[in-house]
Amino acid sequence: AQYQIYDVKKPRYVRVNTLKLDVETAMFELGKENVVQKDEMIPDLLVLPPGTDLHNHPLVTNGSVFMQGKASSMVAVALGPKPGWEVIDACAAPGNKTVHLAALMKGEGKLVACELNKDRVKRLEHTTKLAGATNVEVLHESFLNLNPEDQLYSKVRAILLDPSCSGSGTVADRLDYLLPSHTSGDDEAADEGRLVKLAAFQKKALIHALSFPAVERVVYSTCSVHQIENEDVIKSVLPLAASYGFQLSTPFPQWARRGLPVVEGSQHLLRTDPVEDKEGFFIALFTRNVTHFSESS
Ligand code: SAM
Repeated sequence: AQYQIYDVKKPRYVRVNTLKLDVETAMFELGKENVVQKDEMIPDLLVLPPGTDLHNHPLVTNGSVFMQGKASSMVAVALGPKPGWEVIDACAAPGNKTVHLAALMKGEGKLVACELNKDRVKRLEHTTKLAGATNVEVLHESFLNLNPEDQLYSKVRAILLDPSCSGSGTVADRLDYLLPSHTSGDDEAADEGRLVKLAAFQKKALIHALSFPAVERVVYSTCSVHQIENEDVIKSVLPLAASYGFQLSTPFPQWARRGLPVVEGSQHLLRTDPVEDKEGFFIALFTRNVTHFSESS
């Protein structure tokens, strides 16, 4: 297919799962057959030449490295959970970012991975088992049903919200738009309606994430290029977020591509470009200071 030809030009990224393997050993093993470099920005992320096929590589099949793009790997790093923290991954399956969070937490603390869809829960469980992420508790539930007042969540310090989105920033979906079936007015109207529904859920879920009492860091991310799922969602929650004491912070300040200038604070938001950066992602980071009774880190 057309997109596969395009796809071949993408550098291959793999994230070393430091719960199972150290970066130097991974580089040594992968370097036997490939040219391997460290990514300059994301710790534990390795870059391999375009077209490298690692699907059946033993380090992939045994969960020592995960095939994960650069933009996707920015998300958990932006949240920056510390070992020992309590954290929620609100929309977790298939679990790539869950196990990345677990690695950043060095397997210490508690990570609740919440997923609504039953079949996807199975994939999430598989991913966490493969990664050896023993501090993950998989929860088959809607994130919206987790009660922020429940004692169970009274110590949660960070929430990753990577909700269902249009996926318009991913290569396959982007080139789908070139197909004839995507040109009719009916389809455009259907797409528009879908985006409005997705954005309504995204906004609701973000407001919910911001309402947990001890949370000091919330990352909102999508793999969409649409303003309605990105800047518009952030804009709509900003007054409420400010009333809870949150402000927008700047994930990866060295990254040049920021949010569309349609919202105050857009310079804090991060975008990746579907063509130049190979995947269209969006990341927003909310932070606030919360006094903790027992500071562990
Ligand atoms: N973060 C995941 C990863 O990196 O592997 C990808 C998450 S995917 C974009 C969004 C997920 O949210 C889907 O698996 C979907 O089933 C789930 N989801 C949708 N609504 C949800 C809800 N109300 N509560 C929890 N999960 C939900």
